[in-house]
Amino acid sequence: MTEKREFRRVLLKISGEALMGDGQYGIDVGTVDRIATEISQARQSGVEICLVIGGGNIFRGLSGAAGGMDRSSADYMGMLATVMNALAMQNALERQDIQTRVLSAIPMTTVCEPYIRRRAIRHMEKGRVVIFAAGTGNPFFTTDTAAALRAAEMNCDALMKGTNVDGVYSADPRIDSSATRFDTLSYMDVLSKDLKVMDASAVSLSRENNIPIVVFSIQSNGAFLKVLEDNENCTIIF
Ligand code: UDP
Repeated sequence: MTEKREFRRVLLKISGEALMGDGQYGIDVGTVDRIATEISQARQSGVEICLVIGGGNIFRGLSGAAGGMDRSSADYMGMLATVMNALAMQNALERQDIQTRVLSAIPMTTVCEPYIRRRAIRHMEKGRVVIFAAGTGNPFFTTDTAAALRAAEMNCDALMKGTNVDGVYSADPRIDSSATRFDTLSYMDVLSKDLKVMDASAVSLSRENNIPIVVFSIQSNGAFLKVLEDNENCTIIF
């Protein structure tokens, strides 16, 4: 095991699907509340937190394009889906008395603030949770890449990828019982073995900016705070 890392400011990436709960589509309010509690616990420990939430629970550009839509239009719809998720998460956090700001890469000033880097940093310094909505604002990207980009812009100590599995395994643990979890991996391992952790552009961007990616499960209670504190039950890519 490598030496324990101190995380002062982190970006948490949650896929849209993590908000569906047991459903097949959309937003499960109970699940959003539970994730908000995870964020609240971590924030109370003094860590500055910003979030990128995906949109796959509502709309993915690639499926729209597969159905015959123009890819760029479909991707804009996907980005709008992330704004809905961001508003749901803001609402859940504010119900737990956590000041939260949504900053959108696509300006929609009646709904939320536009993304301005220095403003985002200021919000975090004041202890607010910042949610970056609308991905990068550009089609042909994903929210994984948006997460790596914002983590670099915000000088985050880590990009925390909250998933359903507690790290990266040698094989799919649901299929192969002999699969083992990697404690650490290099960026190049992930890229050259094509491990499906995040897209290659997100991994490359994190590598260039020397930001570790921590893959952990956000499904068990207290998991986010615990992984920030002990760096266990996760895979750290660096
Ligand atoms: N998207 C985009 N540019 C971005 C981020 C997202 O075009 O910078 C679109 C893309 O169509 C994507 C959708 O938004 O399919 C939802 O994001 P993503 O698939 O990354 O969500 P997740 O899989 O994390 O739920």
